[in-house]
Amino acid sequence: MKTGISNSSCRHSSSEMRAVVAGICRRLGKVYGPVEPPEQWPVLDELIATVLSQNTSDANSSAGYEELRRRFRDWDEVRRASPERIAGAIRQAGLANRKAPRIKAILQRVFEDRGELSLEFLRGLPARRAEEYLARFPGVGPKTVACVLLFACRKPVLPVDTHVHRLAQRIGLIGKRTSAERAHEELARLVPPKRVLEFHLQLIRHGRTVCGARKPQCPDCPLLDLCREGRRRLVAGELADSPS
Ligand code: SF4
Repeated sequence: MKTGISNSSCRHSSSEMRAVVAGICRRLGKVYGPVEPPEQWPVLDELIATVLSQNTSDANSSAGYEELRRRFRDWDEVRRASPERIAGAIRQAGLANRKAPRIKAILQRVFEDRGELSLEFLRGLPARRAEEYLARFPGVGPKTVACVLLFACRKPVLPVDTHVHRLAQRIGLIGKRTSAERAHEELARLVPPKRVLEFHLQLIRHGRTVCGARKPQCPDCPLLDLCREGRRRLVAGELADSPS
């Protein structure tokens, strides 16, 4: 695909960037197949699960979540439990002593705000207002907010996880030093709402298989000609000896 992007140093217009985003979705869709949207959970469940997923693997956070649900009858019992007891249940998710008081504080605040332990009302709010509401909770940053709104509410808010951040930097959709927090704002302007879920899930697939953190497999990459880092490595002759 011709995108008008010819070298690694020039700045590109937003329309060129949007063409790159469309090209990424189209090509990764061909390679990996269409994305399967994850199951929609109750909003509060998704929030607690996402807090547990911070700084750990999917397997560990799932194990922590399952154990939390197994040991406590409902969210109200978690809200009334000591942080130590919550930490004991979520140990496998890592950082238990930090996550447990956050979970308790979130549940307490939801209860005080809403008079019930439910965040279903967020589904009916505009995305921006729902973002503002969730961002007030302790330990809930832009990625956690975006995960909750995208996965539980199907609102077009893009989570910038480690894969999305790394690939967006390498491809050149954002600057090399753009923080993940800033990337949420910049990528929101480039990825059309109807493509947010697809873009997020496809970049994660690609980051886990071809464009890993330590050794990107550029010669095998369907995005090579769209990618700033891939083209730089090609021009520098760094791909010549790589297996294809
Ligand atoms: S060309 Fe290389 S750096 Fe760029 S997305 Fe593909 S694997 Fe990653």
